[in-house]
Amino acid sequence: MTALTLDRLRSDGQRFMEEVSREYYLAHAGLKPTAELQAIYARHAAILGDDALALIREEFHSTTEGSDAHRSARLMLEWITDSVASRALAELDEREIAWEGSAVLHLDDGRVVPYQRAAIDIGNAADRDERVVIERARARVVQAELAPMRRERFQREKELIEAMRIAPTYNATFEALSGVNLSGLVAECEQFLRDTQAMWDDVYAETVRTKLRMDPAEATRADALHLLRAQEFDAFFPSDSMEASIRRQTREMGIDPGAGGRIIFDTEEREGKRSRAFCAPVRVPDEVYLVLRPHGGQADYRTLLHELGHALHFAYTRGDYPFEWRWLGDNSVTEGYAMLLDHLMHDAGWLARYTELGRRRAPTFLRTVGFEELHFLRRYCAKLIYETALYGGETSWSSLPDLYVDRLTSATTFQYDRADAFVDVDPRFYAARYLRAWQLQALLTETLVERFDEDWWRNPRAGPWIREALLGEGQRELAGELAERATGRALSFAPLVRAIEDLLVIS
Ligand SMILES: [Zn+2]
Repeated sequence: MTALTLDRLRSDGQRFMEEVSREYYLAHAGLKPTAELQAIYARHAAILGDDALALIREEFHSTTEGSDAHRSARLMLEWITDSVASRALAELDEREIAWEGSAVLHLDDGRVVPYQRAAIDIGNAADRDERVVIERARARVVQAELAPMRRERFQREKELIEAMRIAPTYNATFEALSGVNLSGLVAECEQFLRDTQAMWDDVYAETVRTKLRMDPAEATRADALHLLRAQEFDAFFPSDSMEASIRRQTREMGIDPGAGGRIIFDTEEREGKRSRAFCAPVRVPDEVYLVLRPHGGQADYRTLLHELGHALHFAYTRGDYPFEWRWLGDNSVTEGYAMLLDHLMHDAGWLARYTELGRRRAPTFLRTVGFEELHFLRRYCAKLIYETALYGGETSWSSLPDLYVDRLTSATTFQYDRADAFVDVDPRFYAARYLRAWQLQALLTETLVERFDEDWWRNPRAGPWIREALLGEGQRELAGELAERATGRALSFAPLVRAIEDLLVIS
């Protein structure tokens, strides 16, 4: 076996990522019954263990901050840390997946419902009593069985990461590896919650009264699930023209939706294919799958736009960049491009041109969208604030459920349940990636409007700039660096607040 070097880590790392991505593509597209990941992990064990971690940690500490070598080392150290921790946590994660697949709820009226149906059944239940009955049983079984497993998993993860001796604490390690200033972002979230409180109180009360026909003080997270599942506009987002409309718009903006054959649209009907669209970058930038099974409806359009944003990003990334700039890095960037496209669903001109919503229905639709957007942003701000405390170690594990309920309920007004304090958590602060992606998306949209007019999405001059200034860079930069270079402005919540104000003012 050849000695472990940085270049070997790059070439084997790329092969490992390609094999994993291909396996996911085949399994989720229905081309293979299951993803067989164990064999891939075993084949690449040498680059996924403590030796690789030691090598790259040394490189990280010995390179000069600000240099490309340090940037590369940071990206690779973050990746190795994740891989080593994921391998160590695999057993706990598998135990949890097995539980989710077999657990059942015992409803007070004697019915038995599979755990995995609970969220769907609650979302579909127009009758509030029915939502209450399912939710009570769900919270009971989560509290008794899933929550302890999840709590153990997070405790173990925190110990593992802190034992890697990259920085003194879990949160400091995340900051060192991701380049994200957590406490700064938490402060921005707190400010955003204050700045949008009055706007939220208004739209929340109005929406709960008119759509749920409930007293706003009594609504819970289960009611929110039902509210957000509303399908009143789905007929105007037909499945048969979805792919063609979105491809046409991409061409009108001056971008080839197939990226010269590098993006493969897998659209045929196939047994075992996932129902939600997804993107699988099997070789970056040369072989990227966009898998979909068109159902129509607004959620389907949004998902296709989102996944197309990822696919374009991977397929237009510069092929001469090193592995770590093409495959690794700050996922706020790729999520930002995905959101840049899915937020076209908030653009009245785009909706009029590429859907059947029509001008007359647009104001009501956009106000609904504004409610959803503000709800999700406030929820994610509260999640990040809470998750920082969960990993931070200063709040005892037994006090976390009260903190969770307090944070999430005060941000969203919907009443949350203590049972979810370890379940409703995105590991490794993925909420921070989403929040920065959201900020990046809003900033890019404002910049595109300034440079290429309100209908930048059909301006053939916009595409070349998007490809070269944005997509081509892969994830070499942090989202904040990219924002400064491409727009001359810093990431912040300000453009998002402006966009939400526009959506809510309309009716
Ligand atoms: Zn995404």
